[in-house]
Amino acid sequence: PARLQVDPESIPDDDKPPQTGSVFNVWYLKWSGGDSSSNPYTKLNFRVNIKKDSGYTKAKHSNYICLFFARGCCYLGKNCPYLHRLPTSEDYFIPTQDCFGRDKTSEYKDDMSGVGSFKKINKTLYIGGLTKTNNSNIQNILTKHFEEFGNIEKIKILFNKNCAFITYKLEYQAQFAKEAMQNQSIVGDDILNIKWANEDPDPNSQKQKQNALEDEALNTVKKLLNDKSKDNKVTVQEVESEGEEE
Ligand SMILES: [Zn+2]
Repeated sequence: PARLQVDPESIPDDDKPPQTGSVFNVWYLKWSGGDSSSNPYTKLNFRVNIKKDSGYTKAKHSNYICLFFARGCCYLGKNCPYLHRLPTSEDYFIPTQDCFGRDKTSEYKDDMSGVGSFKKINKTLYIGGLTKTNNSNIQNILTKHFEEFGNIEKIKILFNKNCAFITYKLEYQAQFAKEAMQNQSIVGDDILNIKWANEDPDPNSQKQKQNALEDEALNTVKKLLNDKSKDNKVTVQEVESEGEEE
């Protein structure tokens, strides 16, 4: 079973998220509006430990990942109605939502913070707030901290700008890592400020992303049709050939 990440008695009442109601949008709005991630200068007191904190909860298979679990401070443990584990490639989440069940928006926020846009699959995080990019070990340090949350495809460090870009294999892994590492400290007294990376200026890479987005849309349609096909016998093959005639 999932262990308690935080002893409820140890949290001052002011810091307690309104988790007991478990109405999802209220939960999200309250927490996202009032939590410390809106203050880039405060280091979080909690951090998820995937090995020790993961475990079964009262969540059903198709439920969302617990946002508090990702932030290392869920105090419901095995009684939590959401999943206490990393998202995997087996998971299916609605494309307009993140793995925590929060709605994406059409456009990114101006500062690229927040849940992100449903117009593009973004697997790359901007890591700001690094103070020691001159540390010769910074690549290893970033890898060590961020690979806990998924398969890293690429790390790019901009040494003169004290920031880095980390690309995950899956968008869900980036979503999870963004919440887990926000306002954490990895070297000295730095405090990470994590946002979504901007558009990749490489046109080939953009084309690939567009293709991936189209594939994802097609897969969604296929999935919906397969779910329905038991009733009305529409098959995926028919739909695909219809699409080609256009
Ligand atoms: Zn939880």
